Amino acid sequence: MLEIVQIPVLSDNYVYLVREPASGAVGVVDPAVAEPVEAELERRRWRLTHVLNTHHHGDHVGGNQRLKARYEATVVGPRADRARIPGIDVEVGEGDEYRFGEAPARVFDIPGHTRGHIAYWFAESKALFCGDTIFSLGCGRVFEGTPQQMWSSLSKLRGLPDDTRVYCAHEYTQSNARFARTVDPDNPDLMRRIAEVDRLRAAGRPTVPSLMGEERRANPFLRADQPALAAAVGLSAGDPVAVFAEVRRRKDVF
Ligand code: ZN
Ligand code: FE
Repeated sequence: MLEIVQIPVLSDNYVYLVREPASGAVGVVDPAVAEPVEAELERRRWRLTHVLNTHHHGDHVGGNQRLKARYEATVVGPRADRARIPGIDVEVGEGDEYRFGEAPARVFDIPGHTRGHIAYWFAESKALFCGDTIFSLGCGRVFEGTPQQMWSSLSKLRGLPDDTRVYCAHEYTQSNARFARTVDPDNPDLMRRIAEVDRLRAAGRPTVPSLMGEERRANPFLRADQPALAAAVGLSAGDPVAVFAEVRRRKDVF
């Protein structure tokens, strides 16, 4: 099993240290900045061997070059976006099984937020690193792709097992919740999750990771094929892409 350490950085980013005990491999997922990562590595006496990037945005790759130079770490990132991943050594994409130490990571292409966004799924450890694609009760903005692409990326991820922990890259849950209740007010799973999120935040605790089963039942962006969501945005059921696009549009201006 992987050992996973969550490091909150900047205003709302999460960076993750991932250690594979059999090999001693230590990876960092989406290092927005280098210093807090270095401090945590030092505290644990871990030596960084890998940088795993999900997409090219600065708050995900900002620490790449410095960490690569300091630890001679291998930088892994999306093949489809290799030109925009600083220091990339290994390019991965849909269907690849990347061996991180002794742990296989299945790679998914999940375009939408950016053209070359990927996710890493460690099935044995029940851990998904999905960057800015699924957030708890939300999803990333569709910057470079189309609603159709983003919906199929979300659909791919929501099919993972219920007990998969969703390690997303931002603590946006409470503001996502404020929007979610406007488009899915009669969903008891959403109301339960909102109560839990409020409790966690009041105690100063993270709401991430969440569980995929929870997201599939409560996250409106994973429910665009549900009649309740279509009705809430005034569309007829049966066209999840149109419903997704409308829910996303409303969130953009919320
Ligand atoms: Zn991003
Ligand atoms: Fe981000």
